[in-house]
Amino acid sequence: METGPRGSGRVEAIDLESYVRDVVVGEISVGPRDGALAEDVYAAQAIIARTYALAVRGRHAADGFDLCSTTHCQVYARDQWRRSRWAAQVDAAVARTRGQYLASGGRPIEAVFHAHCGGHTSTAAEVWRSAGASYLRGVPDPYCVREQAGDWSSRLDLETLRTALNRRPRTEVGGRLDGIQVLRRDGGGRVVELALSGDRSPVVTAEDFRLAVIGAAGASRMRSARLDIAREGPDLVFTGRGSGHGVGLCQIGLIGRIRAGHSVAQTLAAYYAGVDLVQMGGT
Ligand SMILES: [Zn+2]
Ligand SMILES: [Zn+2]
Repeated sequence: METGPRGSGRVEAIDLESYVRDVVVGEISVGPRDGALAEDVYAAQAIIARTYALAVRGRHAADGFDLCSTTHCQVYARDQWRRSRWAAQVDAAVARTRGQYLASGGRPIEAVFHAHCGGHTSTAAEVWRSAGASYLRGVPDPYCVREQAGDWSSRLDLETLRTALNRRPRTEVGGRLDGIQVLRRDGGGRVVELALSGDRSPVVTAEDFRLAVIGAAGASRMRSARLDIAREGPDLVFTGRGSGHGVGLCQIGLIGRIRAGHSVAQTLAAYYAGVDLVQMGGT
């Protein structure tokens, strides 16, 4: 496979397994006292990284390489796994899962994941208004909240919020922002649709709203769309749980399930319903 940092013009050839080993250490961190869990946690993340690489490979065919090294594809830096506290476990996890990936209908799945679902994952079609793959559907997840509560809150004044929303065409409100109303939540309690009222009053997805807020004010302002919104004078107060978009695998839940003694295969099956764990080469 060939990978090239966007814009650097440098293209590196690297075998898939080495690529996976360098990607996984940047995608999940395992605590200093959790050495006993590290190999299984990285094994699950390795299967996801391999699946994702196979699914999006060729995305940059027109640029002359397979994958870029930024978040657009997967963040990659050569030999970064060696600097991990858990380098030996990472190496063992990748070797143990060599060639394994998740498939649906014979094709690598869209193996999306997030940090902490807050107690229930969400269906892709609800969060992104995309067609949504059948295996990306919301499931209850008691394991992440048992692992860490994931509660957060933040405060933002309407003027700062207005400026943030105006930076993106989909959330543009113009010269005035009067308020925000939650229109719809999904089955797991995540906000999926909001009405903004101002000069313009668009109905927006909660993910578009969240991306506008964090793009302008920082990721800690709105960790997830599993939240409540209250007005306090010129401010809006957001109170929420979890972190990330909530679709696919929940990483804190992954750690919690491995801690509870679940296998890597059971854990992946819990978040990606009905998919197959298959071996490259078809064995
Ligand atoms: Zn890319
Ligand atoms: Zn979770």
